[in-house]
Amino acid sequence: MRFLPVLLLWLAVTVGQPASSFNRSFGSDTMRVDYFHTGGPKAGETFALDQVVIDGPWAGSRAALVDDTNLGPYMFEVRDKTAALLYSRGFGSIYGEWETTAESKTLHRTFHESLRFPWPRDAVTVTVHKRQADNRFQRVWSLDVDPASRFVNRAPVTAHHGRVVPILESGPATEKVDLLVISEGYTAVEMTKFQADAKRLLEALFAEEPFRSRRGDFNVRALELPSGASGVNRPNAGVFRRTPLGVQYNIFDSERYMLTLDNRALRDAASAAPYEFIEILANERTYGGGGVFNDHATASVDSAFSEYVFVHEFGHHFAALGDEYYTSDVAYATGVKDRPEPWEPNLTALEDPATLKWRDLVTPGTPLPTPWDKDAFEQHSAAIQARRREIRKRNAPEEAMDALFAEQQNFEEKFLAAMKYGQAVGAFEGAGYEAKGLYRPQADCIMFTRDSVGFCQVCRRAIARIIDLYSRAPRR
Ligand SMILES: [Zn+2]
Repeated sequence: MRFLPVLLLWLAVTVGQPASSFNRSFGSDTMRVDYFHTGGPKAGETFALDQVVIDGPWAGSRAALVDDTNLGPYMFEVRDKTAALLYSRGFGSIYGEWETTAESKTLHRTFHESLRFPWPRDAVTVTVHKRQADNRFQRVWSLDVDPASRFVNRAPVTAHHGRVVPILESGPATEKVDLLVISEGYTAVEMTKFQADAKRLLEALFAEEPFRSRRGDFNVRALELPSGASGVNRPNAGVFRRTPLGVQYNIFDSERYMLTLDNRALRDAASAAPYEFIEILANERTYGGGGVFNDHATASVDSAFSEYVFVHEFGHHFAALGDEYYTSDVAYATGVKDRPEPWEPNLTALEDPATLKWRDLVTPGTPLPTPWDKDAFEQHSAAIQARRREIRKRNAPEEAMDALFAEQQNFEEKFLAAMKYGQAVGAFEGAGYEAKGLYRPQADCIMFTRDSVGFCQVCRRAIARIIDLYSRAPRR
């Protein structure tokens, strides 16, 4: 009977909603447009329709329909036949990341993706836009959708395998951020462990600002999705699994990067509950995780740094925060000259300190760029990274990695805090996988190191803005 409160909330939202601009354009369900996003050396970037289906009740805001944050490498728009903008959202995609790897130069690949928006009452045009080098969006795909078409599947979502357990209920789905935590690599008898893992990692998230003070703006639900065996796929370790969501390590051949490429399975499973954001917990000891803006995030639950991974990856997925680190290996092409101003809220190329996007947060008296002990930090970090590669290469027990990361944290946390501008907001060179030409807001942040420092001031503000976007209630 634990699903009852959730059902009642949905009902309350549907019945209690006054006539509004939302109701003129939209019904109470979610429309999901599934498509294949393909590319490769000869294909160019291609979008191909898969299906249009109902994806459960609409859990997003009924007030903040147009996304004014200008985040993400992609965004989509929904317009009516007068071309009036009804809905928009920025997003990241695994395709977009893959496109920057070496593999995309020699191999064609297809990634399944979904666009989710409130169910339109009349025919609409859905367009996908891609951010160009000059930061402007350009249209790359357009699709007319008539909700009355016989090719739009209006069957309600019914076939669910998992059980939904509310963890935090703060109010109607349409007026709260709805986070869904899903089990992966847990057998049916391990669901008690999943619930304990979910609660532990969520406590770590809500211990950090601004999540701590905005806890009441969140609903959190856990989806129990039993796997046949414990653990997820780890190709580089020679441990193979096929789990309900297809979560796997070694995405783009990175030792720690973990995602699912089976978007259809993920969306079908997730439609068991109202949600806007997804974090999948992988029942694994090996350090790893991943996070794609407005797509999904993952974290392994049993490494010594699982809490850090959970919070860091949620930063990518939820608020489009960029990685502030630059000394560990990544699969993406780096070292690009003349890079444009990054769109990520916490990274800058610092072309003009006077127009720095976090200028109003800069600590008075802090030089831009801000001096820091970069060489000493890099020297220490390079030695750690070499030992890290060696640990993975010889497939050492995970305790070796835990110990190395603890040693690194012990050094970096003190080192960064003790510097002259160790607590200031400024612009510190070294960010976004680049040692030169990109800058981060503070010496330390959970997007930079595994130190116990939480999010920097700039990341906090970026997160608060997204909480506002999803928790805004309609005017009554
Ligand atoms: Zn930060």
